[in-house]
Amino acid sequence: MKIINYKGVIDRYKKYLPITERTPVISLNEGNTPLIYASYLSKLMGRGFAVYLKYEGLNPTGSFKDRGMTVAISKALEEGSKVVMCASTGNTSASAAAYAAKAGLKCVVLIPKGAIALGKLSQALIHGALVLAVEGNFDTALNLVREITRQYPITLVNSLNPYRIEGQKTASFEICDVLGNAPDFQIIPVGNAGNITSYWKGYKEYKELGKIKRLPKMLGFQAEGAAPIVKGHPIKTPKTIATAIRIGNPASWQQAERARDESGGLIDTVTDREILSAYKLLAAKEGLFVEPASAASVAGLLKLSRCGYFRKSHNTQHTIHNKKIVCILTGHGLKDPERTIKTIKSPKVIKPNIKAILKEIGD
Ligand SMILES: *Cc1c(COP(=O)(O)O)cnc(C)c1O
Repeated sequence: MKIINYKGVIDRYKKYLPITERTPVISLNEGNTPLIYASYLSKLMGRGFAVYLKYEGLNPTGSFKDRGMTVAISKALEEGSKVVMCASTGNTSASAAAYAAKAGLKCVVLIPKGAIALGKLSQALIHGALVLAVEGNFDTALNLVREITRQYPITLVNSLNPYRIEGQKTASFEICDVLGNAPDFQIIPVGNAGNITSYWKGYKEYKELGKIKRLPKMLGFQAEGAAPIVKGHPIKTPKTIATAIRIGNPASWQQAERARDESGGLIDTVTDREILSAYKLLAAKEGLFVEPASAASVAGLLKLSRCGYFRKSHNTQHTIHNKKIVCILTGHGLKDPERTIKTIKSPKVIKPNIKAILKEIGD
C-alpha cells in the first residue's frame, strides 16, 4: 500500500487503537519505519532463510518508544492530565519529553544516576523535561515513579501504562502489512519487557482479524548480566553495556513469559561481547548503526543459528523454503556515541601530505 501524506501510527491504525473522536492526537509522524532485507545476514543463515531488520531507530526521537508515547500522551491530554512522569534508561525519557513538549504538558523524568547514554540525556534536557538523576538503578527509579503517580495527579508513561503497549503493537502491524503475513520468527531485545508484550499483542490481534495466517515464534534476548527472566529471579544489580536493557526486575515479566510460551518461542541471554560483535557487524556489513541494546536481537540470531536452532525447529523431511526472520533494531546508534568511540579504534593522526595519506590507503 502506498502511503501518501503519512501522519503517524494513530492516524494509520486508529481503528485498532483506543482512540475516539475526542482524543487530541499528539504525533510526530512516528512509525512507518523501514523493514530492511539483510543481505549479509541472510547469506550467513544459508538457503531457505531471509532475514529482515525493522529499523526502529528511524522514529522521530530515535527509538520505538515513540509508537507508545504518541498514544500515552494523547490519552493523558484527553483525560485532562497536566503532568506526565517516567523512569527511564534513556529512550523513554527522550520520547516522553518530546511528545510532552508538543502537547504542552510538564514532563518529569527519573533516570539512574550516571547510567544513561549521552544522546538520550541531551534529548530529555533540550525538550525541557525536569530530569532528576536518582542514586540507584532503573528498578529503584521505576518504583519511585509508581509510588508518586499512585498518590498524586501525575500520569505514568512507562510501559506499565496500557496505552504504551497499544501504540507499540503497531510495529507488528507494519511488519505484517509489508510481508503480507507474520514472519516465522521474530527476535527482540528484552528489558522491561513492554515491547515483546506489544508485538505479541499486535500479532494476535491481526491473526484474530484474519489479516495474517500464522503467528511468529517470539525469541527474546536479555543481556547475560541483566537476565532476570532467563535466570528466574530478579537481579539486584543488573550489569551490561547495553543500558537500554539494564533492568533487573521487568514490569511486564509475566506477559513476556506468556508471549514466549504461547508462541512456542524462547527467551535467552547474549553476552556483552556478543552484543558488541553484532553491533559492529550491523554497521560494517549491513550499513545500519544501532545502539548496543538493539544489537542484542542480532546477537541472538547469530547465537541461535550457531546452535542449529532454526534448522532443528523445522521438519527435516522437507527442504527449508522461504523462512522469514525479523530482528527488531530498537534504537539508533547515535544515542550512545561514547560506546562507539570506546569500541572502535580512534582515527590515526598523520602528517598533512599526500604521500602519508596514500601510504595509509595502501594497495
Ligand atoms: C526500551 C528499549 C529496549 C527494551 O524494551 P522493553 O520494552 O523495555 O523490553 C530495548 N532497546 C532500546 C533501544 C530501548 O529503548
